[in-house]
Amino acid sequence: MRPLGEASFDLPAGIVYLDGNSLGPLVSGVRARLDDVVTREWGDGLIRSWNDARWMELSARVARRIGPLVGADPADLHLGDSTSVSLFKTMVAAVRLRPGRRVIVVEPTTFPSDGYIAAGVADLMGLELRWCDPADPLAAVDEDVALLSLTHVDFRTGAMFDMEAITAGAHAHGALVQWDLCHSTGAMPVDVRGADADFAVGCTYKYLNGGPGSPAFLYVSPALQAQARQPITGWMGHRNPFAMARDYEPVDGVGSFASGTPPVLALSALEAALVAFDGVPMAELRRRSLELTDLFIELVETRLPDVFGVVTPREHLRRGSQVSLRHPQAYGVVQALIARGVIGDFRDPDIARFGFAPLYNTTADVRRAVEQLEAVMAGDEHGDPAYATRNLVT
Ligand SMILES: *Cc1c(COP(=O)(O)O)cnc(C)c1O
Repeated sequence: MRPLGEASFDLPAGIVYLDGNSLGPLVSGVRARLDDVVTREWGDGLIRSWNDARWMELSARVARRIGPLVGADPADLHLGDSTSVSLFKTMVAAVRLRPGRRVIVVEPTTFPSDGYIAAGVADLMGLELRWCDPADPLAAVDEDVALLSLTHVDFRTGAMFDMEAITAGAHAHGALVQWDLCHSTGAMPVDVRGADADFAVGCTYKYLNGGPGSPAFLYVSPALQAQARQPITGWMGHRNPFAMARDYEPVDGVGSFASGTPPVLALSALEAALVAFDGVPMAELRRRSLELTDLFIELVETRLPDVFGVVTPREHLRRGSQVSLRHPQAYGVVQALIARGVIGDFRDPDIARFGFAPLYNTTADVRRAVEQLEAVMAGDEHGDPAYATRNLVT
């Protein structure tokens, strides 16, 4: 199996990298681009580069590359903040669009930030936070619900929701729906427009390889943009920032979701990284992803029978691009694997998580990872007392 697309990745020799769902690797070309931005645009151009290097257009330029990956018109995407801050902005905007409705629904097992931000918004706006059953989120949606906010692919289990069906189900009760696409964008086709999503957010440092802390994208359905009001009303969302006017007047469209000065270095790195998706058909990306996760599950079950519980759904329609294995000493398993050059990660309390990025992972990576996993278990390496205490970042 050859890597997809033309781009190459600067991965260290001898490493099998199965953690692109936490931090994507360095795309060749990013280093030179960043050097150029720092040396020429910033160093030489100084303040002139806001115009000469068109730094103000960076969010829109990056949106043009992300749009096709998530089924959005680039004009409906904005980049500039972390996923957490983007969640805050879109959640407040959603609730304001449903005056009289007092409930936000989220899953109890969602990524922490998603739940924390929802709780913060509920507190700020005097709303009820309602936890839904991840097996049936629509059961929690009724006529009191302003917003249902879900994560498309669960970060812990790798389980995937049916975006289209759930969105339609919530809309039938008049609720708005927000999708967090952090664990699906760049690993499979996503279609926010086709699913009729109202809002979406997504990370760019995972499968999009934008670099540590690269800014998230947010999507606002074009049907809602004229009414949607986000709460962080900074000068960059103003109709005319350099008029330095006293009163806030939002620009038309999704640009009103901007707040402050765009993170130029981070957006430049992301723009260069997204070249890796040039000419890559999304359907082929998904086919590859399923081939990799199918093979990993099959090999783990045949080579290491009854050692791990496979947490990730078998059903293709319900699976993201990762495989999560349950084991009481999962932390030690992951650390022992890393010592052998296979990098995955651990999620509390007992999950060893392996992300398969179809842009650069191959079936050879899968085979090597399982061989090393067999060696770890055979040598009881996961029980090493060195792994009894955890690192700060797991
Ligand atoms: C990675 C991830 C985030 C990260 O949020 P940041 O604010 O960028 O740190 C949020 N939500 C989900 C579901 C994630 O997977």
